[in-house]
Amino acid sequence: MKTVVILGAGYGGMRAVKRLAHAKTAVRLVLVNQNPYHYESTQLHQVAVGTKEPEDITFDIRKAVPKGVEVIIDRVISVDQDSKTVNLSRSGSLGYDYLINALGFESETFGIKGAEENGLPLVDLDTALAARRHLEGTLEGYRQTKDENDLHIVVCGAGFTSIEYLGELVHRMPSLVSRYGLPADKIKIDCVEASGKILPMFSQDLVQWAVTYLEKRGVVFHVSTPITEVRPGIVMSNDQEFTANTIIWTTGVRGSHVIADSGYNEKRNRVIVQKDLSVEGHPEEFLVGDISAVPDPQTGRPYPTTGQISVAEADTAAANVLARLAGKEPRAFAFKSVGTVCSLGPHAGVAEIDKLGKWKLKGSIVGVLKKIVNDRSVFELSDLRTMLESN
Ligand code: NAD
Repeated sequence: MKTVVILGAGYGGMRAVKRLAHAKTAVRLVLVNQNPYHYESTQLHQVAVGTKEPEDITFDIRKAVPKGVEVIIDRVISVDQDSKTVNLSRSGSLGYDYLINALGFESETFGIKGAEENGLPLVDLDTALAARRHLEGTLEGYRQTKDENDLHIVVCGAGFTSIEYLGELVHRMPSLVSRYGLPADKIKIDCVEASGKILPMFSQDLVQWAVTYLEKRGVVFHVSTPITEVRPGIVMSNDQEFTANTIIWTTGVRGSHVIADSGYNEKRNRVIVQKDLSVEGHPEEFLVGDISAVPDPQTGRPYPTTGQISVAEADTAAANVLARLAGKEPRAFAFKSVGTVCSLGPHAGVAEIDKLGKWKLKGSIVGVLKKIVNDRSVFELSDLRTMLESN
């Protein structure tokens, strides 16, 4: 019997496993993941602010995968494309006939001095929890230290993750102020962005709405301000300094380091794949999600990395593994965006729904929409019980 190995239990990996298992083809399916749980990476900012608990955004992989799928909880060290094996930290090597690699993303520091040591990234459950402990501990500490930098927060970058984090933060801040007895007028939240634009993927009127919403709640934006160094308690942009004892590092992501460690031809741990999502010269190997650079035929540039695109790629990769197993030709990846939603806390946000010819939404309706999107994701990847338990 042929073996299909799926690496990573994020959006792409979980979707591929489900698709392959439901096809009921006689294959051995093996899912490898370093943690026994899946986490909803689009909700990490809520754990980081403390509006959600880890159990609200996670579920047990073993309970969620269809019957018959083998689950190995172990860390992937590298992939050997020539011998078709995956090297695992504890379990040794695992051979495959077909591979769907969906190992996901890591924080990108662009080599900026001090960013790794002094910034708090939001890339997985551990880092989101570390950011929450740091934020709460620092605010609570102010009562003893009376150091105003304990009340200052700098968010680095103004992309999706930063804006969603800021939205959640301004929502929770009043309750943190009252819990720790803080002087509300001394709280300072700066957002420092290199480019001239905030949330570049949204129309200008929606961006303006989101910016005004956050500014009214105390966020100060600094655009065209590239961060050049991060020191303990200080974010620097050339000679300009932003002092804060909480520094959130959300300036973008790169693919898993396993890609570079395995010797692929990569850039920021992403590999340009073929139209069918396979790796050049390896028709048995498919890359999905943040490690995969899939050229958009319309623009020639790779698609952005989002949960929605990872799921669509997983559908194509799973269909192509099944096609290869049946001796058929694989199909080319095609993507039609459903739309984009950016939350600003639980009760607000901005959204563009592509299905309805760029339907623009803002305000509390987007809070409702985001909840539906999140619930649908948990429901599709696990089951109804998990969805109800996570509410
Ligand atoms: P991003 O690339 O979207 O945003 C990072 C921002 O940081 C950019 O605006 C960039 O200009 C800025 N930046 C980079 N270097 C900087 C520097 N030195 N100084 C100041 N600013 C700097 O990254 P992200 O927000 O981490 O998101 C990662 C991916 O996940 C994206 O593809 C995003 O679309 C996706 N995502 C989607 C959602 C959603 O759909 N709701 C939510 C979160 C993330």
